[in-house]
Amino acid sequence: MQLTIEGIPVRGLEIDGRTGCAHYRSELDIIAVKFNCCRIYYCCFYCHELEAGHAARLWPAAEFEEKAARAGLS
Ligand SMILES: [Zn+2]
Ligand SMILES: [Zn+2]
Repeated sequence: MQLTIEGIPVRGLEIDGRTGCAHYRSELDIIAVKFNCCRIYYCCFYCHELEAGHAARLWPAAEFEEKAARAGLS
C-alpha cells in the first residue's frame, strides 16, 4: 500500500497504513522519519538502512533553527 505525508511517499518494509513497518508495528508507532540524506520519509532507521543503501543522515539541528529563524522574519 502507498502511504504519503504531505504528498511525499513514505517508504518502509511491509508498511501499513499508519507508518508501522516490519520492525515497529504498534499503536504507538504512528510517525515516519524524514532523512536528510535522500529527503525521503521512512518508517524507521532500519527501513532506511535496508532500502536506501547508504548511511542515514537526519536534519541537523542548526538547519532546523536557521529555517525557523527565516520563517520568523518573513
Ligand atoms: Zn537516505
Ligand atoms: Zn522499519
